[in-house]
Parts: sequence; structure tokens; C-alpha cells
Amino acid sequence: MRMSRMYLHTLREVPSDAEIPSHKLLLRAGMIKKLVSGVYGYMPLGYRVIRKIEQIIREEMDKKGAQELLMSAVQPAELWKESGRWFDFGPEMFRLKDRHDREFCLGPTHEEVFTDIVRNDVKSYKELPLNIYQIQTKYRDEKRPRFGLMRSREFIMKDAYSFDRDWEGLDKSYWDMYDAYSKIFTRCGLKFRPVEADTGAMGGSDSYEFTALSDFGEGVIAYCDACDFAATTERAACLVDIPKQDLEEKELREIHTPNVKTIEELEGFLNVEGHRLLKTLLFKVKGKLVAAVIRGDRELNETKLINALKIPEHELEFATPEDIKEYTKAEVGFAGPVGLKNVMIVADEEVPKLKNLITGANKTDYHIENVNYGRDFEADIITDLKLIQEGDKCPKCQGPVKLARGIEVGQIFKLGTKYSEVFGAKYTDENVKEQPMVMGCYGIGVSRTMAAIIEQHHDENGIIWPLEVAPYHVIISVVNVKNEEQMKLGEKLYQELLNANVEVLLDDRPERAGVKFKDADLIGIPIRITVGKKASEGIVEYKLRSEEDKQEFMYDKAVSNVL
Ligand code: ATP
Ligand code: MG
Ligand code: MG
Ligand code: MG
Repeated sequence: MRMSRMYLHTLREVPSDAEIPSHKLLLRAGMIKKLVSGVYGYMPLGYRVIRKIEQIIREEMDKKGAQELLMSAVQPAELWKESGRWFDFGPEMFRLKDRHDREFCLGPTHEEVFTDIVRNDVKSYKELPLNIYQIQTKYRDEKRPRFGLMRSREFIMKDAYSFDRDWEGLDKSYWDMYDAYSKIFTRCGLKFRPVEADTGAMGGSDSYEFTALSDFGEGVIAYCDACDFAATTERAACLVDIPKQDLEEKELREIHTPNVKTIEELEGFLNVEGHRLLKTLLFKVKGKLVAAVIRGDRELNETKLINALKIPEHELEFATPEDIKEYTKAEVGFAGPVGLKNVMIVADEEVPKLKNLITGANKTDYHIENVNYGRDFEADIITDLKLIQEGDKCPKCQGPVKLARGIEVGQIFKLGTKYSEVFGAKYTDENVKEQPMVMGCYGIGVSRTMAAIIEQHHDENGIIWPLEVAPYHVIISVVNVKNEEQMKLGEKLYQELLNANVEVLLDDRPERAGVKFKDADLIGIPIRITVGKKASEGIVEYKLRSEEDKQEFMYDKAVSNVL
């Protein structure tokens, strides 16, 4: 590609709403354009990277015998009502109606659709196992879309669904996908860790999240250096024994939370995300009944919570008894432990051990600090989850657990017969007996993976693409395009590399050398060949994006070096 003809618009300035490196660099390098919050378009360079990632995924999926197909993004509500998820999915689902008032959604995931197709087609054990997948655009109306491609409302996902005769079959399909995912993320150049994930209502330990390690990741994982234990903190919290907290009980204090009327507003105010709704906990504060929702929270830590709520004394207002009466009717509220690090979840037997909670209800200015169990409240409804902290005992080897941040780039999951039972996805076995198919599902965030790669591969000048996902492998920068010798050598190199099937850019724009080098660094092309003053002698400069060193080569040596 000749850069003089290329649709490329790089930015010198960092866009103000971009907070993390991948978001900033994707915008600055002109790889994506924002259309509206959480919705992006991929420009030619960015789309080439997406296609590279997709290609890696296709190759590794196909090696495991999975077959690619493509389903519609538009899905009828009936299927989701059949599975019961039409209501469960909540506001994250984009819903729409056709002209006849029939309800639809834009698919946030495709379990329903795949199960529906397969139940109608597959009848015999001879047709199983089956693994079918698609690479397709997904829609989730995320509460707070942010960080560019990391958490967007429209994103590209690879989703696969396996159908087996029995649990042993599923086990094989599942570990095949585990293996494929490990290969995919390795080829993408990611440092990642498969971590045990929460299986929610399903039970068992049969889900892994593939987490790309990054300080900007929204997820927190717990791992052990002494053995191979690694899990999301939610999962780890279910496994780890928690030591008793020995904290001093502080005095009860009411705090000012301006403009907070709903739990969403409170969350916005606390600037935390990733809450998971657990159960409603009823308790009494100063003898009054208060309803609070105890939530698991990935991002909430002590400092964040305390900072968020540090409000000048003169702004303090106190709730009236009438207010408190209202709160007892409130469905939502908030309680988060203070004085603990990386707190995730408030638990049942753990509740008594927690001290100095913050609690309140869906009402402006009504939140109380330093709420303590026993003294200030009694728990009526309890949950069964536990907390985890750095240094807790590893559930596997008793060594100290460490915490790290990461980006969930993929997840594999044993579904079992959850969907096949409700959808009646059955086959007849060798004995002509009807059996439910045993299912698994496997997702990869394609566009999020692109962002994760950048998080791990960049410097202050721009992106440093790993070769396998780079939009182009080589960029030839002609220093002065008006100089005939330089242009001629540039063209010659360009043609030879093209003939050798190298993906190559020729920077033939009438720009200053400084601009060209800046752009080359920003868009992250792995190899740069500069054709400058020594073109008359056939000498060029060879530089890797990942290294500082430059070398001078005769041009043919530069070509052979690339190949
Ligand atoms: P998260 O916990 O980050 O919200 P999820 O667990 O809801 O993700 P899954 O339902 O497991 O996501 O979807 C499969 C994959 O799709 C995820 O592992 C992730 O890589 C990607 N993904 C999910 N939500 C988004 C999003 N809003 N933007 C970009 N990628 C996403
Ligand atoms: Mg999600
Ligand atoms: Mg997740
Ligand atoms: Mg997930």
C-alpha cells in the first residue's frame, strides 16, 4: 500500500476522553473512530488487525474440528422468553420492535439461537459431537461503556457452542477449546493466564477466563506463585479460608452523598463499576430496619471508597426518622466494607466479621459510615460468599495468594444441559433413547483482544504490534520523495517485498522525515526501512520498532533480512 493513497488520519493530540493507553493509541493512530459512546468504526489499518486476530482464531478453532457459520444479530424475543433470559438480561440488552410490534433484541450472546437451530436439525447420536462458531458483532448496552474497544456497546466476538452426547464428550470439547484458546492468545503475543472463573448458578469449577495481564484491566485475579492456582477473585473468594478481621469498631457517622437517589447514581458517585448484584440484606440501623443490597465488586477497594466519600463536614446532613421509614421500603441500597483491602463480597458467616460498613438506601444524602454488625444491625438474609485478600492462604497449597489486574479476553464454560433441557434439544442414543445434548460455550472478545495487545505492546511513541497481528510487516520510509534516487530505491524495495508476499507500506507522502517516523512509530509497524541520503550507494537504514538500534544495510541485505 502506498501511504500517499491510504485512508489514514493520525492525531497529534490525545483525545480528552481517552484514559488508558490502548484507547488513546487506537484513536491517535487513526485505527478506530468513535461514532457514539461505546460504538466505534474500524479504519483500514485497524480493520487489518481485527482480521489478523480473526484469522488466528479461525485457524485454531478449525484445527479442533469446529465449523464456522454466521447467525443473525437480530433475535426474536420468543427464544429469550423460552430460556427465561428476556427478563434476566435486564437493561444490558438492546431491545427493538418491528412494525407489527413484535419484540426483538440485538444479540448480546447466542446460546438461545444456536440451541434452537441444533434442536431442529440434530436428531441422532451419530451427528454428535458438534462444535459450531461464528465471528460476529455483539450488542450490549453496557452501563458505563469506556476504555474504547475494551468495554464497548457494539463489539466483535467469536462465540462457539459445543454439543455432545454426554459429560465425557463435553469434557473433551471443553479442554480442546482450552487448548485452542491458549494457542490463540499466545499467537496474538499476549501474556495471559487462564484463571478459574465463577460458574454462578451452574456449580462446579468448570469455567476458565483467559486474562491478559494488565494494570488497566478491570478484572482482579488471585494467583499463587508456589503452585498453579489462579482464579478470578470472585471464584477464589469461594475457595479461600478467610482469617478473622481484627479491626477497631468506629463510631457510626452519617455522610453526605449529593444527588444520589438510585443505586446507579451511587455507583456513579463512587466511581466504581463491575458490581454484581447479590442478595438483599435487611438489617436494622439504630433500631430501624434498612434494606441494603450487598454486592460483589471488582474494582472497589478501601482507598477508592474512602476517597469517594470524603466530603467536608459542613456538608453533612442528617436523615430524619421519616426518611428512615422510607428506606425500609427501599428495594435497593448499598453496603460495602471499609477497612479491608480489595474487598469483593460481603458474605453470610463473614458478615459478623466485617466492621465499619457503609450503608444506605436509594435516597439523596442518606448513607451511613461505620455500620457494625451486632451493634448497629442484624442480618436477616445472608449470602454464602467470602472475601479474599493478598496474603490469604492458597486453597491448593496454602502458600500466600497474590492479586493482579487483568483483562478478560475470553471465557470457556461448561453449560451442561441447562439450555438443552429447556429447549428440548435432544438426540436419540444407540439404544434409541432420548437424551439431552450436553453443551459448552466459548467466547473471545476479538475487538477487546486488539485493545489488550496494545496494552501490553506499546511505548510513549505508539503501538508496537507483534508480527502476527501487525497491520503491515514493513514500512519503507522515503525521506525525500522529490529525490529521484531515493524514490527509485524505495519503489524497488517495495516491489521486491510485494513480490515476496510481504505486507508492506511505502511512505511516499510528501511529508518531512520527522512526520513519517512519528507516524511509523505510532501505527506500530514492526520493521522500518528508511531510504535517505545514501540511496545513491544502495544503502538503507533498517530498524525494528521494538528496538532503539538502527543498522545500515545494502538494500538487498535489507530485503533478505525481512524474509
Ligand atoms: P465482562 O466481565 O468484561 O463484562 P463478560 O463476562 O460479560 O465480560 P462474556 O459474556 O464472557 O463477557 O463474553 C465473551 C467475551 O466477550 C469476553 O470474555 C470479552 O472478551 C468480550 N466482551 C464482553 N463484553 C464486552 C464489551 N462490552 N466490549 C468488548 N468486549 C466484550
Ligand atoms: Mg459483561
Ligand atoms: Mg466477565
Ligand atoms: Mg465472561
